[in-house]
Amino acid sequence: MKKVIVILIALFSSIILILYTGYTGLNAELEDIKTGASEYLVLRVIDGDTIEVERIGKVRYIGVDSPEISRGPEPFGMEAREVNRQLVEGQKVRLELDFGERDRYGRILAYVFVGDTFVNAWLVEHGYARVMTVPPNVKYAELFLELERKARECGRGLWGVSETKRPEAITGYRSSSKSNKFHRPSCRWAQRISPQNLLIFESREEALKAGYEPCKECKP
Ligand SMILES: [Zn+2]
Repeated sequence: MKKVIVILIALFSSIILILYTGYTGLNAELEDIKTGASEYLVLRVIDGDTIEVERIGKVRYIGVDSPEISRGPEPFGMEAREVNRQLVEGQKVRLELDFGERDRYGRILAYVFVGDTFVNAWLVEHGYARVMTVPPNVKYAELFLELERKARECGRGLWGVSETKRPEAITGYRSSSKSNKFHRPSCRWAQRISPQNLLIFESREEALKAGYEPCKECKP
């Protein structure tokens, strides 16, 4: 009996140790990014808004959303990945964090810079991504919205694709923290929500579960 207890204690403490070192290892990387001194080699471009970098793993660009390629692919998804590849693959990038450091998949959320280029902004400006503001990560939300407005006016990238083929689902349903309705992203009411109040729901169910009602006008 004593032997069993000793073995259990040994097993338990090694699990704790493994968990602890794993945890501090990850946070050391976050600290590393925060000092702003490091550059990271981009090992692989996954799609228009996700990359894999050395020592960090997967990094999801903040504030923007490119058309999906895994399901579909959606119009302009392949183009977005290709242009992202041309921008950063095999390059050294700088990463900047916001308040929310990881998404629910554990990916680091970052603003990405290569040379003088602010990659997140560049993608929106040229129509390879839409704005997707997820509070509390709103540092550049105003800039992104302004760039998106111009890209849309000029019909750049995915804004040149006809309205019906445009991937709407990718941007999720939008709501304001000041209201109890949720909207399709194209709804005029959705477009009037100020970035600091904007909430995004990935699905209709998620919005309903959070207590929001569908807008009577855009009928999401
Ligand atoms: Zn609406």
